[in-house]
Amino acid sequence: MKRAYKLRAYPRRPQEGRAVRLLADHCELYNAALAERREAWRMRNVSVSYGDQSAQLKEIRAADPDGQGRHSFTAQQQTLRRLNTVFVAYFRRVRDAKGSARRVGYPRFKPCQRFDQVLFVAGDGASWEPADGGRWAHASFQAVGRVKVHQHRPMMGRVKTLQLKQEGRRWYVIVVTETESVLLSSTGRSVGVDVGVARFLTTSDGEVVANPRFLDAAQDRIADLQRRKQRARPGSGNRRRLRRFLAKEWRRLGNKRRDFHHKTARRLVATCDTLALEDLRVAAMTKTASGSIEAPGRNVAAKAGLNRSILDAGWTQFTSILAAKAESAGRRVVLVHPGRTSIDCHACGASCDRPRQEIVVCPVHGELDADLNGARNIAARAGLGSGQASAA
Ligand SMILES: [Zn+2]
Repeated sequence: MKRAYKLRAYPRRPQEGRAVRLLADHCELYNAALAERREAWRMRNVSVSYGDQSAQLKEIRAADPDGQGRHSFTAQQQTLRRLNTVFVAYFRRVRDAKGSARRVGYPRFKPCQRFDQVLFVAGDGASWEPADGGRWAHASFQAVGRVKVHQHRPMMGRVKTLQLKQEGRRWYVIVVTETESVLLSSTGRSVGVDVGVARFLTTSDGEVVANPRFLDAAQDRIADLQRRKQRARPGSGNRRRLRRFLAKEWRRLGNKRRDFHHKTARRLVATCDTLALEDLRVAAMTKTASGSIEAPGRNVAAKAGLNRSILDAGWTQFTSILAAKAESAGRRVVLVHPGRTSIDCHACGASCDRPRQEIVVCPVHGELDADLNGARNIAARAGLGSGQASAA
C-alpha cells in the first residue's frame, strides 16, 4: 500500500535557483520529446514510444553535459513517462471520439512557468533523511542539493519516490512510501459513526469525539481577518497583506485538521472490525437538491455559516482517510444512504421533532441525543443491528 506525504521544503537561495533551473530543463526535455512525437506523426505517420525516447536520453545527455547531462537519468525517464501518460490518454480520447464529430486536441507544449514538478526515484538521484529528534528532515536532489524539509508528521514505510514541486512561491517535497498492509486482530466491535456540527463524531455505542479546540480558535481568527479584509480599501497593500494572512490561516487549519483526522481514524480502525458511515457524496447531492439539510438554529447564523464551512470541508476528508486506513488494516467500511438518519427514531422509526440541534424527540421514546440516534440509524442501515451490543 502506498502513502503520499506532502511536506513543505525550504531551499536556500542558491538551491532555489538550481531547482528553478531543474524545472526549466525538465520542461525543455518534455517539450522536445513532444515535438519529436508530433513531427514523426506529421511527417511520416509514425508514432514514437516511451521506449524510443528513453533510448535517446544517453545521447542527449552526452551532447549537453552542462544542461541535460547534469540531471538524474531516472528523473528524466520519469518526465518522459509523464509525457507518455498524456499520449496514452490522448489516444484513448481519439478512439472514443471515432465516428463522432468531436475533435480531440493534440497534446500541447507546456509553458515552463506551468511545469512545476519533477519526480525522482529514491536512491537514484535523490535521497531522504527523515526528521530525527527535533532536527529537520532533508531531501537531496541531484543538481539541486540537500534541501531542508519540515516533516510535520511521522512517516511509515519505505520511501519509493521523491517529488520536488513548486506552488507559487512555495516549495514542497512529496514523499511516496510503500508499506506492507498490516492486518489487525479482531476486536468484536462494530459501530455506526455519525459526524456532526456540535461534536466531531458520535459512535452508535456512545463514544463521543469532540470538535478539537483549535477549530474554535481558527474560526475566530479567520472571521476576524475576513472582517478586517472587507474593511480594507480594495487594491491596497493592507488588503493584500490580510489576504495573505487569511490564506496562511486556512492552510494552517487544514494541516492541523488533517493530523486530527489521521489520529481519530487510526484510533477507530484499531478498535473496530466494521465501521458504518454515511455516504457523504450522496449527502452533498441531497443538500444541493433540497436547499439544505437540517439548517442550524438562526441565532447562530453568522458563526454557524463559517463554522459549517470549516466542518464541511473536513468530513469528506475524514471519511476518505478512515476508509483508506480501514482497507489497509483489513477492516470493513460500509457506506449507507444518508437520508433522515438523524430525524427518524432508531428504535421505532417514527419521525421525530428536532427542537434543538443536539436533540430529537420521538413521539414514543421521548428525548434522544440527535447524534447518537443518527449513529444508531447508520449502524442499522449497515446491517450491524443497533450497533450498541458491543458497548457492554
Ligand atoms: Zn421511537
